[in-house]
Amino acid sequence: MRRKIVAGNWKMNKTVPEAVELSRRFRELFEADHLEVDVVLCPPFVHLVPVREVIEGSRIALGAQNLHWEERGAFTGEISAEMLLSSGCRFVIVGHSERRQYFGETDEVVNRKVRRALMSGLTPIVCVGETLDERKAGRTESVVERQVRGAFAGMGRDEIARTVIAYEPVWAIGTGVNATPEQAQEVQRFIRQLIEELAGRDVAAGLRIQYGGSVTPANARDLMSQPDVDGALVGGASLKADSFYEIVRAASLAS
Ligand code: PEP
Repeated sequence: MRRKIVAGNWKMNKTVPEAVELSRRFRELFEADHLEVDVVLCPPFVHLVPVREVIEGSRIALGAQNLHWEERGAFTGEISAEMLLSSGCRFVIVGHSERRQYFGETDEVVNRKVRRALMSGLTPIVCVGETLDERKAGRTESVVERQVRGAFAGMGRDEIARTVIAYEPVWAIGTGVNATPEQAQEVQRFIRQLIEELAGRDVAAGLRIQYGGSVTPANARDLMSQPDVDGALVGGASLKADSFYEIVRAASLAS
């Protein structure tokens, strides 16, 4: 049985005081229950340390939204895996569609970042997903397959086993139009089959695959009740403590 994992991607939102307040309120709600769900908060870089101070000693984990593939050096404006680790991160989102779309991240860049994260002991949350045009053209599986193979190229089964995948159809991100539970299940089963091919049956059976794209308290339980949907990567709805908490609760009810 795979334990559900719900991550909040705050993107480029909130000031530091707002981030502290949001994480403080979420911790309060989360600690009132004993939900058997893994939870990760992924605030912007400058919020990591203040948010870590709020969630320290709780079961809430910290994640970043990006990292650089090199260990250190002359890369102005970038951030390293070691910096993230020393800020308290255990997770890092890699290959989010906004990084691919606005910052030119290719499958090769994603691969380098996944390697660096793993080498440093961070768990990468590897994002894949098709655009609306690609879906309409019947290319969903081929696009997702290229992204998954690209992200894990040259890696062994032990490395793949230490990742989380997020299936995020680009047309569902921030649009209010979520994939139906059946659409999510269809692609996520396909991803699991692909992982079985790359890393074997045991790794595929244990690997957690999140769904992301307009997840709300209203649709979360149905989505996460699907057999291959092991949690959610949540953007907009993670910016309010109550709605994020409701999604985490839905994950525990769907378990
Ligand atoms: C995301 O950015 O990862 C995301 C899923 O956003 P939203 O929940 O707002 O669609």
